[in-house]
Amino acid sequence: MTGLLNTTGYNREEDEEIELKLRPTRFDDYIGQDKVKENMKVFVEAALQRGETLDHVLLYGQPGLGKTTLSGIIAHAMDARLRITAGPAIERPGDMAAILNDLNEGDFLFIDEIHRLNRNIEEILYPAMEDFVLDIIIGKGPAARSIRLGLPKFTLIGATTRIGLLTAPLRDRFGVVHHLEPYSVNDLRTIIIRSSNVLGVETQPEGADEIARRARGTPRIANRLLKRVRDFAQVRYDGIITHEVAKDSLDRLDIDPMGLDAVDKKILRAIIDKFGGGPVGLDTLAASIDEEAGTLEDVAEPYLLQLGFIQRTPRGRTVTRLGYQHLGLVPPVEQGQLLLNEL
Ligand code: ADP
Repeated sequence: MTGLLNTTGYNREEDEEIELKLRPTRFDDYIGQDKVKENMKVFVEAALQRGETLDHVLLYGQPGLGKTTLSGIIAHAMDARLRITAGPAIERPGDMAAILNDLNEGDFLFIDEIHRLNRNIEEILYPAMEDFVLDIIIGKGPAARSIRLGLPKFTLIGATTRIGLLTAPLRDRFGVVHHLEPYSVNDLRTIIIRSSNVLGVETQPEGADEIARRARGTPRIANRLLKRVRDFAQVRYDGIITHEVAKDSLDRLDIDPMGLDAVDKKILRAIIDKFGGGPVGLDTLAASIDEEAGTLEDVAEPYLLQLGFIQRTPRGRTVTRLGYQHLGLVPPVEQGQLLLNEL
């Protein structure tokens, strides 16, 4: 159907079958995010008891934190069908109308990257979310008229990495808004052990720990690293993921002990070498290392900020003392200059 993706994930280069197996389908297997999970369980239970549909849900947080997975679990718990699409896939108002019109009573509609919907498409959602109706304009010019079609009751789950880019009218129409946080090393370790069982590979606790520490708080990255480490374990070792195997494989993959990859280091290096440690605007920085500004802002920057390696100032990004130290460099402040962010 127009605009609908038939997959439940976006790691197309990864084996979709494995992806599906790794994705939890029940609350019990969804590790961490306790507050969000407990709240959602209550809302699901209450809706089930009343025989109603669930209120519309907005989930926000960095890519790979489990927004799609949680949506699947919620739909599964309500024994409902989940239709998956994404903001950029819906190009015209007609696409949105067609998707809505195809829903059945009780269905869940998941729209990933919902902040990327065009305004005119978004406006179709307002009456659909609020009153379960579709206003359609027929004809053009003076002869144009609007007809109203009823829609079955459905639940919209919107997911976004950028809550700030959502318009207020859209945000206000969600009854439940949850923020997914980066995962602790403990939670990631549990996810890695669970995934190892699914993949049929033996992972020792110290091996799982090493992968968890380098997974930048993100289950998708934890699973991806696990799969690569498994390859090394199988080809170079005896198949078991020990601490040594994990460490050696991740080093070979250029993932450093804090989880920084080649792109992260390129960013830090560029700010230091090309822009004197910053501040530098995001677009200028992105252009200087040939990466997309959006990728930088969504994927690399949140983790560097979280680690305190860079800072956001009104004039741009700067590398902090910690950032310099991580690269084994002497911060300018210790070379007799003051860091701008320390003025
Ligand atoms: P998002 O939609 O936020 O980008 P996904 O829901 O696609 O993230 O999650 C990416 C992968 O990480 C999933 O395929 C799943 O295997 C794993 N995952 C995410 N959250 C959890 C969790 N809480 N517990 C276990 N695995 C998870």
